[in-house]
Amino acid sequence: MTVLRSGSASDVGLVRSSNQDLALETSSLFAVADGMGGHAGGEVASRLAIEELSAAFGRQPTGSGLAEAVTSANAVVWEHSQDNADLRGMGTTLTAVALVDEGGRDVLALVNVGDSRSYRYHDGELTQITNDHSLAEEMVLNGELTPAEAAFHPHRHILTRALGVSPDVKVDVWRIRPVRGDRFLLSSDGLTNELGTNQLIEVLSTVTDPQAAAELFVRAARTHGGSDNITAVVVDVIVGEEDTGSVPAVMAVSSEFVDPTGMAPDGVAEPLPLSVPEIRIPDRRERRKAKRRERRRDRGRRLITFRTLLFVILFVAIVGAGYFSVRWYNTNSYFVKLNGNELVIYQGRIGGFLWYHPVEAQRTGVTTADVGPTYLPALQSGVEESTIGNARTYVKNLVSDHLSTHTTTSTLPPASSATTTTAPGAGLGGT
Ligand code: MG
Repeated sequence: MTVLRSGSASDVGLVRSSNQDLALETSSLFAVADGMGGHAGGEVASRLAIEELSAAFGRQPTGSGLAEAVTSANAVVWEHSQDNADLRGMGTTLTAVALVDEGGRDVLALVNVGDSRSYRYHDGELTQITNDHSLAEEMVLNGELTPAEAAFHPHRHILTRALGVSPDVKVDVWRIRPVRGDRFLLSSDGLTNELGTNQLIEVLSTVTDPQAAAELFVRAARTHGGSDNITAVVVDVIVGEEDTGSVPAVMAVSSEFVDPTGMAPDGVAEPLPLSVPEIRIPDRRERRKAKRRERRRDRGRRLITFRTLLFVILFVAIVGAGYFSVRWYNTNSYFVKLNGNELVIYQGRIGGFLWYHPVEAQRTGVTTADVGPTYLPALQSGVEESTIGNARTYVKNLVSDHLSTHTTTSTLPPASSATTTTAPGAGLGGT
């Protein structure tokens, strides 16, 4: 025989204009939903989820019934969002605990989807039963963040799992022995983002009335900022099992959305015996390890998504464009430079650019003796020209300039003779 006593409170907070959180408190079913998806969407999603959870669990008030009620709530929110363009994309978190009879024994069934949380306060210790289905929590599990860093991480609000955003949902399920004196806290992230574990413990250890405790939680979260909607449900086990410590009290049953609590193929619920040593809640290190193992397993069968494909195509395009730009830049540049005492036309950039080194394009046969000495310093470091034609013209002009200067200053040989002389660089054809 188990007797529960509960209390709940919910508040819009100090920043939001509407309260999209919703609490459910009946004699045997308790839940918190935190809606999302626009002004109307969030409220509709949390309300639909709570209503369907309550109705479906009422039809099948068992552990598997609770898990199925969550999948049913998912379907209702999903279908509603598909039928109403204004509500497209709405969703909600949902965590719930229910007192159920399994094989003549009282059990607390607990479910979770999203980043609302369920805690168990037992013997002065507070344990978070649920895992946040958020990007930040995944980073914690992967060892990329500490829990303290995750609490302030910009990705802490990005959910990796929510109710009503796809036709199927994976539900985390636990079975818990109702131990006398235990307290359960169900809350939206508006509470746990504002209050730390010690503050939660302070309230649970000092305020014995669950309603007063829930209200104090909400008031405290408002005082600490109230940046989101705040909801708390406190459930106390007034009459329950004695804490013998001989069997684990909290057992994760499954994380599969199909048949989470041992449904037989014929549809009859088959309760799992409580005395069997089952899965205890792994600590952080074990969860991290398991997550790594799971990721390694998944890596092999991961499909190339459209987004990955798009990324690869874009990457190849950018790399290709970069390569051809550099190539074009180098192959369309020329310069004239002294090689020994001969003027040589090179293709490329002076000194080279990235992986391109200049290559000899043409030897001109023109030497330092054929050009004016004033040009030599520039020719030693190289003179850039945009085309090979321009480079040839430049060399020709140097030679002509030198010849004309020579003719003018020496008056010899006569102009007619100069024109018949084979000028250096005469082999520079083209333009
Ligand atoms: Mg919230």
